Amino acid sequence: MSTLHLECPFCGQAMDVDHDGSYAPRYARCASCNERFIYEPLRDGVRTLRPSEADSCSDPEQRELETGGSCED
Ligand SMILES: [Zn+2]
Repeated sequence: MSTLHLECPFCGQAMDVDHDGSYAPRYARCASCNERFIYEPLRDGVRTLRPSEADSCSDPEQRELETGGSCED
């Protein structure tokens, strides 16, 4: 378990989340503005994005609907 340092894409609030080592995107909720956003661990950091900006490969709920793994890079 490691820690990711996130920044809310809505208000810029910094926060840390536990990370299990997977590169799968996850949802987080900002403790400051209470908006839900997506964070996607990368090899050299982490990317955050608003759900409205996410394509199907970066949306955790969409990935669950798609079986295939074509989103893996
Ligand atoms: Zn926020």
